[in-house]
Amino acid sequence: MSPYSDVLSRIDKACKESGRSHFAPVLIAVSKTQPAERLAELAQLGQRDFGESYVQEALPKREALAALGWANRGLIWHFIGPIQSNKTRPIAEHFDWVHSVDRLKIAERLSAQRPAGLPPLNVCLEVNISGETSKGGGLPAELPALAQAVARLPHLRLRGLMAIPAPSADPATQRAAFRHLRQLLKQLRTLDPDLDTLSMGMSDDLEAAIAEGATHLRIGTALFGARTYTERTDT
Ligand SMILES: *Cc1c(COP(=O)(O)O)cnc(C)c1O
Repeated sequence: MSPYSDVLSRIDKACKESGRSHFAPVLIAVSKTQPAERLAELAQLGQRDFGESYVQEALPKREALAALGWANRGLIWHFIGPIQSNKTRPIAEHFDWVHSVDRLKIAERLSAQRPAGLPPLNVCLEVNISGETSKGGGLPAELPALAQAVARLPHLRLRGLMAIPAPSADPATQRAAFRHLRQLLKQLRTLDPDLDTLSMGMSDDLEAAIAEGATHLRIGTALFGARTYTERTDT
């Protein structure tokens, strides 16, 4: 089986086992560090959603992909990396979704810089679910105020929450973190019933994320193999 069909059947099986056959999550192929040719291969198989973490890597890659014939063919681009405020403009101009908004200043810049001809930018608030001080994401206690402020910005559409829990090989621990994110979304929905997105689950914990209601999975390694060069920490 190809890695792509392998991931699709893992998702399918997890959906069936958690009684979610009626609602499959969106698979985002996390293509950071992968060359345009690898993305084109997946697009050829029907993959449409791609996730990138570094603006300066993503933009030339998308031009290369366009040169391979994939311009204007319905690909959906998700920005999932840390955001520095001096990088918000190209993100606002070139992406459909941003999963990693963790402070109001970034959201305000993205809204102000979203080009007039484009639909509102879909955004998720990133939550620091495991309380790791080194990690990105806002604190759960700050979410209601942040969500209300972001929801008011004219060129953004607040969709929900994203988290990257501390890695764990234990399915129960994986599920506990995802359940926490689901409960935070449920609380926010009392303020904003339109919120519909739980961006959670990666290569090693997608089953646990599906069992807890993930709507968007962000999968890299299981689709492309191990990333071959060191990830940069800048955006
Ligand atoms: C790299 C990355 C992923 C993909 O992780 P894998 O373990 O390779 O599936 C998902 N989400 C974010 C935010 C990432 O940076």
